[in-house]
Amino acid sequence: MLQQRIGILGAIPQEINGFLTLLQEVTETSIGGRIYYQGMLGNQSVVVVYSRIGKVAAAATVTTLLLEFGVTEIIFIGVAGAIHPNVKVGDVVIASELMQYDMDASPLRPKYEIPLLEKSYFETDSIRTQKAMEKVNQVINSTNITTLISLQELQKFDISAPTVHLGTIASGDQFFSTNKQKEQIQRALPHVLCVEMEGAAIAQVCYEFDIPFIVIRTISDNANQEATFSFQAFIEQISLVYGKEIITRLLGNNTLY
Ligand code: SAH
Repeated sequence: MLQQRIGILGAIPQEINGFLTLLQEVTETSIGGRIYYQGMLGNQSVVVVYSRIGKVAAAATVTTLLLEFGVTEIIFIGVAGAIHPNVKVGDVVIASELMQYDMDASPLRPKYEIPLLEKSYFETDSIRTQKAMEKVNQVINSTNITTLISLQELQKFDISAPTVHLGTIASGDQFFSTNKQKEQIQRALPHVLCVEMEGAAIAQVCYEFDIPFIVIRTISDNANQEATFSFQAFIEQISLVYGKEIITRLLGNNTLY
């Protein structure tokens, strides 16, 4: 039987450093400019890596995880910019599906469709996603979050009652930092909850290799003119805590998988 091994990816160090310290029996391997940390989280064999930013970086990294490290499933954890009006900084979006908003081979293929795959949306593993919803809820419900992050910090980011959302995440090679960018995507794709720069690339590779995956994104900014400041402050002060608590809750008792 294939040994179960989970690949855990972030895009930037601040998305993985929180739980990297929890890894036991760690060995480091350097390939293509990334460091892959193999080890144990509880009794679960994992490989942790940050991919660097953007779809190409993410696709190269997830392919390496699959081919060089034989991972059998993928968890992506990171931050994203809010697009849907119901989604706030400090909330968590868990993808039910992902798409690439900057894929456009029209008029040859419908806008957003991946040529040859004849698909625009890639679904995450529904059972793991449902379990992740429960676990993330336990982490960020308003009683628990105040034990993890000081009230002062929470107020600074205007986080009062963070919630978990399930829905569509859109990815592309753009950092959203203007109202114009945000309004354009809200008009074109009103069901999208948040934007980021890696998820749909990982989704496409996992689909092609037939590997189950989930994507969990904490909202660091509002994908508008305040995004640059908010993003930077959030990754420096908050995202480590979210990352560590969510991964611990998912894999701590070995209940997710
Ligand atoms: N700090 C980096 C740039 C980060 S880009 C540097 O200086 O090189 C933003 C990262 O966070 C990406 O990995 C993306 O997936 C996610 N993200 C957060 N907010 C975003 C937004 N508003 N638009 C697009 N991606 C966002």
